[in-house]
Amino acid sequence: MFMRISSKDMQKHLVNETIDAITAAAAVDAKNVPFDVQRVRSDFPILSLHIGKNPLIYLDNGASAQKPLAVIEALARYYREQHANIHRGAHWLSEEATRAYEEARVCMARFLNAREPRECIFTRGTTEAINLVASSWGSANLFPGDEILLSAMEHHANIVPWQHVAERTGARLRIVPLTPEGELRVDEFHRLLSSRTRLVAVTHASNVLGTINPVAEIAAAAHAAGATVLIDGAQSAAHFDVDVRGIDADFFVFSSHKVCGPTGIGVLYGKADILNAMPPYQFGGDMVREVDFERSTFREIPERFEAGTPNIADAIALGRAIEYVRALRPAGALAHEDALLSYATARLEAISGLRIIGTAPRKVPVISFLLGNTHPLDVGTLLDADGIAVRTGHHCAMPLMKTLGIGGTVRVSLAFYNTFEEIDRLADSLERIRRMF
Ligand code: PLP
Repeated sequence: MFMRISSKDMQKHLVNETIDAITAAAAVDAKNVPFDVQRVRSDFPILSLHIGKNPLIYLDNGASAQKPLAVIEALARYYREQHANIHRGAHWLSEEATRAYEEARVCMARFLNAREPRECIFTRGTTEAINLVASSWGSANLFPGDEILLSAMEHHANIVPWQHVAERTGARLRIVPLTPEGELRVDEFHRLLSSRTRLVAVTHASNVLGTINPVAEIAAAAHAAGATVLIDGAQSAAHFDVDVRGIDADFFVFSSHKVCGPTGIGVLYGKADILNAMPPYQFGGDMVREVDFERSTFREIPERFEAGTPNIADAIALGRAIEYVRALRPAGALAHEDALLSYATARLEAISGLRIIGTAPRKVPVISFLLGNTHPLDVGTLLDADGIAVRTGHHCAMPLMKTLGIGGTVRVSLAFYNTFEEIDRLADSLERIRRMF
């Protein structure tokens, strides 16, 4: 009898070789090229748009980041040269699409420092990833009297799925309050943590306040209390390298579109033993081992949680996005973002009547503020008239707004392709708006 090398082993070998080559090339590039924001901007066609007669100043990166040519071209190339359904065909094109898709998974594992690529499940994004965990892990592991610990700074995506599963299982939510600066009250976290706590689900970085939470410390304490830990990385993955093993997160989730990748794709990282013990979330093709009309059995991860034809093109393009940002980070992108945050904070603080909401010492480049008594939506609309795109409102964090006693904020969220001149233009516009009221 002939023994065939499994196509998975073959793919793993090919994938590792390709990724090593890409990473090595990126590292060489990064060493030689100092961070040149104008050169980086030329990778993003949309940044040369004009809104009316004003050049676009895009400061809404926390909502969604713009896409470099590498990502746009990866999408076009996929549909031009690589498309077929994956994991199924015996033909060359299907193998090629499968190889590229699985290569993207390897890339996610490197990005997050996961132990194995199979611990990275492709989802539609952060929201679907949390819903997957709440529905699958939650329904199997939560019982009446159990507690789910969240922080007061969570996005709706990390509140509502837990509320829903708590209603169905009899568990209840406990909320860790914040300091006046917008930091999580670690003392309260320890007080609320108990043997009843089954899950701690906190954001790595707040999309409103910018606060970076001490997630490794939180995870260590949660584990000591016997709880499982989910980290919402929607805002952190866009700004620094994540180490899920260093954090010791049981689950870590993020969205592609905030890391310069396409919309409609994201990642659920989970420890392999935890994911394999969870019931499937959706059922259908590719996730089954054996199907009979009476019953079916299911595959292990990652297929276990990827029922049906996945979002192949966007997963591949996300891989390109991650390679792109990973190459820029050691080349100074992170230091540039830090400098932008300090500069923008100082320029905005100097505007009379402007109040920054969220002043923690460790922040991602997100600045929420109020300008006197002017409604945030009015500020946003007037900035838009100057070509400046910001976000206004509750930022999908209504409970946080209620805690702060405000209806909403204006939010400036920066990326590595923003410039000091753009911040000057923002500050000048805000000065003009202030004088109007
Ligand atoms: N969590 C945080 C902290 C976010 O900022 C966001 C989006 O803004 C989400 C979750 C939801 O992400 P998505 O809409 O990509 O699923």
